[in-house]
Amino acid sequence: MKVAIYPGSFDPVTNGHLDIVTRAARLFDKVVVGVFDTPAKALLFSTRERVDLMREAVAHLTNVEVKTYSTLTVDFARTEKAPVLVRGLRMGSDFEREFEMAMMNKQLAPDVELVCLMARAEYQFLSSTLLKEAVQFGDSSKVENMVSPAVLAALKRKFGPKAAGKN
Ligand code: ADP
Repeated sequence: MKVAIYPGSFDPVTNGHLDIVTRAARLFDKVVVGVFDTPAKALLFSTRERVDLMREAVAHLTNVEVKTYSTLTVDFARTEKAPVLVRGLRMGSDFEREFEMAMMNKQLAPDVELVCLMARAEYQFLSSTLLKEAVQFGDSSKVENMVSPAVLAALKRKFGPKAAGKN
């Protein structure tokens, strides 16, 4: 059985992430989404919230599980008995960062292979960070095609009546 992990912060999960999980679920027998507990960036959602939103987003994918982890990503891969780590690549900025991480991961765990799936054209410029700014300062109805209804509702709750009122 070929198992892959798909690690990330998912703060919160977007349709870009969901597209990557969906495609990975077709390539592997099982995909374990790893929600990293303590990324080196400011988070809007707690680990519990990020896991719950991801679980809801992938509920229809029968070979996908969602777990949280706080170890090195390659150690999470080993714990899950996954020889493959999946990442999504958007144009430009993602490549250098992914390359750097891949080199370090190869050093730490030569047995774990990286598989990068190219982000679909419509999600190339979708990031959790920009999404959060759009809802916080803009009009949440404009980002309805970028996230699930549950994620949009969660974002509106975080940013209060101002964001909610604009939709
Ligand atoms: P991290 O903090 O580890 O970069 P993210 O939650 O931002 O985690 O993203 C997880 C993975 O999904 C990364 O491989 C990232 O490049 C990828 N990703 C992020 N946004 C998109 C998108 N719009 N389309 C496809 N892949 C994406």
